[in-house]
Amino acid sequence: MLYNQILVRFGDLTLKGKNQKVFLQKLYKLMAVKMEGLNIEIEYQHDRIFIHLLEEDVNKVIDRLNLVSGISSYSLVVKCDNDLNEIKKTSLELMKEVVNKPTTFKVTTKRANKNYPMQSMEVTKHVAGYVLSNHKELRVDVHNPEVTLNIELRRDACYLFNTEIRALGGFPVGVAGKGLLMLSGGIDSPVAGFLAMKQGVEIECVHFESTPLTSIESAQKVIDLVKKMSKYAPNNKINVHMVPFKELHMALLDNIPESYNITIMRRMMYRIATKLAERNQCLCLINGESVGQVASQTLGSMHTINAVTNYPILRPLCTYDKQDIIKISQRIDCFELSIKPFEDCCTVYVPKAPATSPKLDKAIQYEKAFDFEPMVDEAVENTNSITIDMNSDLDLTFLGLEVRDVLKNL
Ligand code: ATP
Ligand code: MG
Repeated sequence: MLYNQILVRFGDLTLKGKNQKVFLQKLYKLMAVKMEGLNIEIEYQHDRIFIHLLEEDVNKVIDRLNLVSGISSYSLVVKCDNDLNEIKKTSLELMKEVVNKPTTFKVTTKRANKNYPMQSMEVTKHVAGYVLSNHKELRVDVHNPEVTLNIELRRDACYLFNTEIRALGGFPVGVAGKGLLMLSGGIDSPVAGFLAMKQGVEIECVHFESTPLTSIESAQKVIDLVKKMSKYAPNNKINVHMVPFKELHMALLDNIPESYNITIMRRMMYRIATKLAERNQCLCLINGESVGQVASQTLGSMHTINAVTNYPILRPLCTYDKQDIIKISQRIDCFELSIKPFEDCCTVYVPKAPATSPKLDKAIQYEKAFDFEPMVDEAVENTNSITIDMNSDLDLTFLGLEVRDVLKNL
């Protein structure tokens, strides 16, 4: 392999002053964490990062790079001496490595070192001429080339590269503060969590579990999903708050008309999530709702459900098509897990005809049927919090039928 380093670009140059400094500090730290254990050297420059590959497998490094939010793109780079003959020779080697069928190309030279003895155009001409006459498959097309050979003349050396590969983009996770993700075992909420992290929001997770009404496997699935997501988290770990929801769940089934069951169940979830967010210094809630997807996600439902909280709620998927959500779910390796068929509290005892436009005054009226506030507080008090990292082997399913007992005894 010809490449000896990776040039990493980080994006948002609209950031200025102090924000930029904070951004960079977070990014450097994140890079260091994600690259841990690899045989590489990271060189930080003011507007880019170089990863020197040393003896490391480039694909392994790329896999890790794809976990770092805040990186906009990267290129595999060959570094060579600044001498023109050396540049010509290395350029040809590079083009031979990447082109083996008829292909159009152009050369672009950037002269970052203003003291370089030749103008960029001259370097371009020399290199293009040399490469063209020694590589039979190449033709020049300066307007719409299939391959571009980029030459960067810097003070210390010359850098050559072809491709610019898009990375995660967004902001370094954590730079925006912390949010509480409402995580079910489905497809949507892990994707919502990932997108929030990608935009710089560190996450903790809350899961409402109704074991033994629901199976312990459904709670295990949530743990397994967190493990997958933790690869993107600042220190490869995420806190999870397991809320014992069985009592409230049963009270809802006993006291609330069937068509409003889901509406009021979700109002309870929002109430509890808000309290847990406050306790854990989370500045927003995050969930996987998408407008119109199911009865509880019509605008009318969202309006009635949302009324129980003043907390900001991020819904990263609110306008996403399901197919696009699935693509992201596959990319973050959650899809196979998410489609495992375990029921959670939103899928057992689903009403036959849920209200698609539940009214706020009716919801408030129905809630008067039982004294829910102490139950909400009790659920908060009895919540078990655990930390899951990317190597976690926590398996609840061997340990009992009710999550709360299992976690208490860990
Ligand atoms: P998902 O695929 O994430 O399960 P969904 O389309 O099945 O979403 P709902 O079951 O209506 O939708 O839930 C909407 C959102 O509410 C979920 O994306 C999640 O953020 C939150 N949520 C639902 N059930 C739970 C739960 N048991 N614990 C925590 N959050 C939940
Ligand atoms: Mg669900």
